[in-house]
Amino acid sequence: MQLTIHRGTQEIGGSCLEVVSGKTRLILDVGMPLLDRKGNSLDWMRLGQASKEELDSRGLIPPVSGLFSAGSPPAAIVLTHGHLDHTGLVDRTDPTIPIYATRGTSKMMLAGNLFARQVALPRERSRELTPRESVEIGAFRVTAFSVDHSIFGSAALLVEAEGQSLLYSGDLRLHGRKPGMATEIFASCGKREIDVLVMEGTHLGQPQDDQRTEYELEEQLVAEINSTSGLVLASFSPQHVDRTVSFIRAAIRTGRTFVADAYTAFVLHLVSSETRVPVPGKSPGYPVFFPKFLKRSKKRELLDRICPFMAEAEIRLEVILNDPQKYLMVFRPSMISSDFSGELPAECLCLYSRWYGYLEQPEWRDAVLHLDRVGGRLNEAHASGHIYVDDIRRFIAGVNPRVVIPVHSFAPHEIKQFDCNVQLLSDGMPLELE
Ligand SMILES: [Zn+2]
Repeated sequence: MQLTIHRGTQEIGGSCLEVVSGKTRLILDVGMPLLDRKGNSLDWMRLGQASKEELDSRGLIPPVSGLFSAGSPPAAIVLTHGHLDHTGLVDRTDPTIPIYATRGTSKMMLAGNLFARQVALPRERSRELTPRESVEIGAFRVTAFSVDHSIFGSAALLVEAEGQSLLYSGDLRLHGRKPGMATEIFASCGKREIDVLVMEGTHLGQPQDDQRTEYELEEQLVAEINSTSGLVLASFSPQHVDRTVSFIRAAIRTGRTFVADAYTAFVLHLVSSETRVPVPGKSPGYPVFFPKFLKRSKKRELLDRICPFMAEAEIRLEVILNDPQKYLMVFRPSMISSDFSGELPAECLCLYSRWYGYLEQPEWRDAVLHLDRVGGRLNEAHASGHIYVDDIRRFIAGVNPRVVIPVHSFAPHEIKQFDCNVQLLSDGMPLELE
């Protein structure tokens, strides 16, 4: 088996790996990079509309034969999860290539496409990966294992061919609500020898001062909510269902009503067949707020068709503003001008539960200034979606591979601190597994 990491050996984002056995080529993830070649942040919203030629000229399309252009196409693309830095170039690939993803990933990509203009998973190309059930693709056998990450449906991939095995961690963490998922991987890997572990290392080389777990975050949310008598606003990714659960649990524990927006409510509806979550419109006591931009839009029509029950749980902003101390509502900055008519209620608290870097964006800078003006505040309340450094050591020990190759990291050499056989690769450099 041969492995080539086309992008991701020295950076976070833009992940794209290729494995080859005989005549079969498989692509694992086709992500959009976070940074351009000069190290500047990329505007994903704009790049989603950019031409393939522009992406190519800026070096954003990895040179993989037949994946984006002429040449014999790979047998399949296999996705670990729905984040754009792993899927963002899917719509630029040869339309004849089938795409394997878990049902959860298909659902998150559907919701992300509908509400956040993220890349879609074309239905006719979609093939389902069921966790723990192997699929044969040409010379390969591929098995997905569910992992805990900041988007529902995430998986690690075990790829086997020619008596060799490679485990690609995708993105994951061991400090979430589902630590048992890693235990399951360790148990499965214990039954066979893993030749290569391709391990995500987002936190390598970064400060290790904040190692909050999802449960500790929930405690923080409860304390923050208890410290305010005004409206609580919550900003997080609706695709991160475990984070939604943390906010719902904190709302229950502080006696507040959790108000989902339509995006969050739709995701809860989608995942409710796979995991136990309340569904606004079906579970009593879970209202939905429909932001103004949705009203009378095609999205609203579609939503009314797919989830007619949701409209019955609609809550109007006036109701919330009459008793702001009773509610915790999902929020995004654009709502200040469109829904709150330019004025958030006095003394409201915004709990910001996303990557801190987004706070540099103009809409968040303006929101912070606005909160300040009305006597409110924004507090960060976040737990990373990526594995902490001490847990990387635990994960490697649990899988016990012959070789570890770091990926999705700006400091891959830091993995040498662990007691394991490390191989550092460069982008595009093929490695024959021994
Ligand atoms: Zn991710």
